Amino acid sequence: AGAPAPARGRVLLAAPRGYCAGVDRAVVAVEKALEHYGPPVYVRKEIVHNKYVVETLAARGAIFVDDTDQVPEGARVVFSAHGVSPAVHAAAEARGLQTIDATCPLVTKVHKEAVRFAGDDFDILLIGHEGHEEVEGTSGEAPDHIQVVNSPDDVDDVVVRDPAKVVWLSQTTLSVDETMETVRRLRERFPLLADPPSDDICYATQNRQVAVKKIAAECDLVIVVGSANSSNSVRLVEVALESGARDSHRIDHAAEIDPAWLDGVRTVGVTSGASVPEILVGDVLVRLAELGYGDVQEVRTATEDLMFSLPRELRADLKAAG
Ligand code: SF4
Repeated sequence: AGAPAPARGRVLLAAPRGYCAGVDRAVVAVEKALEHYGPPVYVRKEIVHNKYVVETLAARGAIFVDDTDQVPEGARVVFSAHGVSPAVHAAAEARGLQTIDATCPLVTKVHKEAVRFAGDDFDILLIGHEGHEEVEGTSGEAPDHIQVVNSPDDVDDVVVRDPAKVVWLSQTTLSVDETMETVRRLRERFPLLADPPSDDICYATQNRQVAVKKIAAECDLVIVVGSANSSNSVRLVEVALESGARDSHRIDHAAEIDPAWLDGVRTVGVTSGASVPEILVGDVLVRLAELGYGDVQEVRTATEDLMFSLPRELRADLKAAG
């Protein structure tokens, strides 16, 4: 509202940004479950790591719980996009829960790799963040064979049974460059280290990092929209800084922009993590325009058209209902 702010600079808007195919599928799965079965629908953990998404779904009747023992027996529960271990599936079955598994198919792919390499009795070095839900789920596929490697500095502590039977896998949402550094150091110690059959860091994570790298060097400030527990969003701040941005901040929503960040700033980069709805980016652009940054240029480094079909259990019920 009011008179337009005097122009102070421009915005470079990274593309791709925001929702990936796995997040879109998981969020739509909860929405459709609420529509089709009616509330409440239980969701184990945050369906995706975004505060706004979780609050919006909660307002519509989704009940977020930490684990399956908080779901009433026989009720319906959705598993989040980050995946769950076989123990969680077993616990849900023991309580007679009706499960809808919204695990991203690209996470499931890593689970299958873990099962296969464990079956061949490899030691699996899972590069990822200890305690992150995805890492817990993947580790649970083969707890006796998997050890988590958090960062390049952890490499020296790794102990394996047979250096000729070691493979690395990774969390889907890591920094590509840091992961390659970890792998390089692992290979120095274990020259016979096997690679995963295909990239574990997913297309969406990679594309968002490439896009932010492209704009970073021209930016005095890069604003990343995403929640604090969103691994890929936090990585975007790191990648922006490593790629030449003078400053970078992660925010959940537009109101968190501190006008002081813009002192002396000509070019502001904007991007968002894979769990972030575009409406939040729109709000940020409105706020930046109010602050004198109304000239927005989108810089696109890739186009994405991947889509995943809804979880099988849900598709079957929707189809039966016509
Ligand atoms: Fe799937 Fe990648 Fe999106 Fe995670 S970030 S939900 S792995 S597409």
